[in-house]
Amino acid sequence: MEDRIEISLSTCKKLKPEPDRLGFGKAFTDHMFIMDYAPETGWHRPRIIPYQPIQLDPAAKVFHYGQTVFEGMKAYRTREDRILLFRPGKHFQRLNRSNERLCIPPVREELALEALKQLLLIDRDWIPAEEGTSLYIRPFIIATEPLLGVAPSNHYQFIIILSQVGAYYAEGIRPVKIMVEADYVRAVNGGVGSAKTAGNYAAGLKAQETASGLGYAQVLWLDGVQRRNIEEVGSMNVFFKLNGKLVTPYLSGSILDGTIRDSILHLLKHWEIPVEERIVTIDELVVAFRHGGFEEAFGTGTAAVISPIGELYWQGERLLIGKGDTGELTRRLYDTLTGIQYGRLADPFGWTV
Ligand code: PMP
Repeated sequence: MEDRIEISLSTCKKLKPEPDRLGFGKAFTDHMFIMDYAPETGWHRPRIIPYQPIQLDPAAKVFHYGQTVFEGMKAYRTREDRILLFRPGKHFQRLNRSNERLCIPPVREELALEALKQLLLIDRDWIPAEEGTSLYIRPFIIATEPLLGVAPSNHYQFIIILSQVGAYYAEGIRPVKIMVEADYVRAVNGGVGSAKTAGNYAAGLKAQETASGLGYAQVLWLDGVQRRNIEEVGSMNVFFKLNGKLVTPYLSGSILDGTIRDSILHLLKHWEIPVEERIVTIDELVVAFRHGGFEEAFGTGTAAVISPIGELYWQGERLLIGKGDTGELTRRLYDTLTGIQYGRLADPFGWTV
């Protein structure tokens, strides 16, 4: 594999959106990274080029059989104008675990990180400085071989694109209402739920559409067999504080191993707050609610970091969580993680790069 990254710079710079109109995943930067895979050469020709459309044969396997994986992370600008990444190594390791599951050849994680750093340096003016904003990083791999046949592709492209994101909580962190999903499932054991691959997200759209039509922000996914065990919330991992105890579903195989989830487990250990990774059932939440012990609930993921849950809708009943405000521990975790990400707090774990 050739490691030298070719660079061709854009001659016309795009207009950047106004800082208060960043949205999420709408405005892309001036450059992108791209690298090809062929069986004879492996991954080759890593290059940074002006951001542009890619041309693919209509028979490219990604369109038909969904052989593709992706990642999502962010770059943050600190008050001192440093640029920080949060646990990029963990994201590229997960990319390779997803690759393994989807029969895609692994990428060298050091090269992927080097490519990302060079791309960020070139497009560093795009990393916004306003409170709570960041640059979203989307590495992904697509199967490009033009061949209609269900078998792993022989050709791939690995691409990294960057997009400005506005503050997730423009009006401050606040709890959302969630519908417990009784009909659809996101993933099953033995399937691809633990990989970050497009099909999982396509599979979730219908439930999400129904829930948002009923006024809910997202769905709480249950397992595909017993339909009792909690898996994730929307595309986030989930934690609960029940009767003073923290619990989160264990990584059963149908759940994504979230970077924020893992960081929270480390933080809690550091703070000597016990947390159980185990099966958590919807029935257990109902019982805790009935006894007044359903204290806090929150989703975790790169986009929102922490998203407090204020209410769950399940079998015609609204389970209200805590006092309707963001819980104390939820807020402490949010403040600590965002503090580390933006370089405002010390990083005892060496997470930022
Ligand atoms: N679960 C799913 C299905 C996701 O898509 C994500 C976002 N990548 C997460 C959980 C949270 O992962 P992370 O903390 O690494 O962003």
